[in-house]
Amino acid sequence: MASIFDDPMDRDSIEVALVGHDEMTLDEYQAEATDLAFYSTSIVYPTLGLAGEAGEVAEKIKKLMRDNDINFDADDASEQIGYMEKRNIALEVGDIMWYCANLLNDIDYSLEEVAQMNLDKLKDRRERNVMSGSGDHR
Ligand SMILES: [Mg+2]
Repeated sequence: MASIFDDPMDRDSIEVALVGHDEMTLDEYQAEATDLAFYSTSIVYPTLGLAGEAGEVAEKIKKLMRDNDINFDADDASEQIGYMEKRNIALEVGDIMWYCANLLNDIDYSLEEVAQMNLDKLKDRRERNVMSGSGDHR
């Protein structure tokens, strides 16, 4: 079976590589992610890691802007990015997920709980027509 680290020729190959994995809930992911945690300084370590990995995503987008003729304002911006670049961005987002899972574990929240809280917050803002603007608790 192909691995996510193989060099697939197209997006379909990536999907095939993922088929062999069982589906999991966010909480099942969090349990495995925290089982893989190796740090001893809770809260601070995953917070710094989260910021660092977000920077890695931003770096990849910056390099796409610098080295490729991609119009990020275009409706088809995503289609202008190659599958390998998308996969590398996705892997960095996965790193963000790992740090989110561990940070939330350190503050006694589950990923599913926070995912639901986030959707509830955004739906409430949409219903009250305050999606844009600023303020954590608008
Ligand atoms: Mg990374």
